[in-house]
Amino acid sequence: KLHNIVEETKGNIRVFCRCRPLSKDETSSGYKCAVDFDGAKDGDIAIVNGGAAKKTFKFDRVYMPTDNQADVYADASPLVTSVLDGYNVCIFAYGQTGTGKTFTMEGTERNRGVNYRTLEELFKIAEERKETVTYSISVSVLEVYNEQIRDLLASSPSSKKLEIKQASEGSHHVPGIVEAKVENIKEVWDVLQAGSNARAVGSNNVNEHSSRSHCMLCIMVRAENLMNGECTRNLAGSERLAKTDVQGERLKEAQNINRSLSALGDVISALATKNSHIPYRNSKLTHLLQDSLGGDSKALMFVQISPSNNDVSETLSSLNFASRVR
Ligand code: ADP
Repeated sequence: KLHNIVEETKGNIRVFCRCRPLSKDETSSGYKCAVDFDGAKDGDIAIVNGGAAKKTFKFDRVYMPTDNQADVYADASPLVTSVLDGYNVCIFAYGQTGTGKTFTMEGTERNRGVNYRTLEELFKIAEERKETVTYSISVSVLEVYNEQIRDLLASSPSSKKLEIKQASEGSHHVPGIVEAKVENIKEVWDVLQAGSNARAVGSNNVNEHSSRSHCMLCIMVRAENLMNGECTRNLAGSERLAKTDVQGERLKEAQNINRSLSALGDVISALATKNSHIPYRNSKLTHLLQDSLGGDSKALMFVQISPSNNDVSETLSSLNFASRVR
């Protein structure tokens, strides 16, 4: 591993805040935008809470509803490409249901998200460097639901329980999971769609299921240096967090049913305060992310918010959580 160039400090998580547009339904119901973007260029975002004073938060970036997928990816790109320098990278989205986690990470056919753009850029760089390095790229798509890992690329639903194992050199992996080798960007969208479609299969209530499950795309990059024969293998984790409502009674409920999400909060707080013990082992999700959240890895969290004055309390709760992370 090329981990000797360590400039990052432990727990250095970048936080990008993205606000989606008001939906047609919200507009027709008379809801208004409660977000002030005047300071957005400097990473400031303010929430107007009825008659109360505006509350301002600072992040590494703030995206307004008018910012598009390319604008967002442009800022994530340096992090993504550091995978090719030997870093483990983790990108994930956090926020209330319906705030754009899926839109940011997966996107749509016409507005592709971070996952697709990441692979597109990795293939582009691999092509540019092909005289000196051979990169091979493979992907796994998995889901954590009720503390169980499900392989979303497996051809038939397997009864085999997937577990996390630690390899002798210390890295974590899931033996038996499908690692689909992708040769070019044309293959990628189909693989990502297959993973995404497999998510709902087998659950009787799709909404309930998706609000409690975490979906993770793992991108493995193996590099063979044609000059000295050295091999490196890296993992870029890119993940969409539970569509979980994070507030009041809902929060309590979510924490009970969703150990992974509260464990992630604990891990992130421990990293942010540079605690010497990071409780990765408390959930499957954090255990899986151990290699790409800790040490000298690089992490980026998108905190997704709604602009609507109807969602202000959930928005404040997400922004409070996210500002503790930095
Ligand atoms: P989540 O995954 O957080 O539940 P979604 O990604 O499903 O939320 O987004 C909810 C809806 O809002 C979707 O219809 C999505 O296309 C739309 N949406 C989210 N973010 C944006 C955006 N930045 N621009 C346009 N539409 C968006």
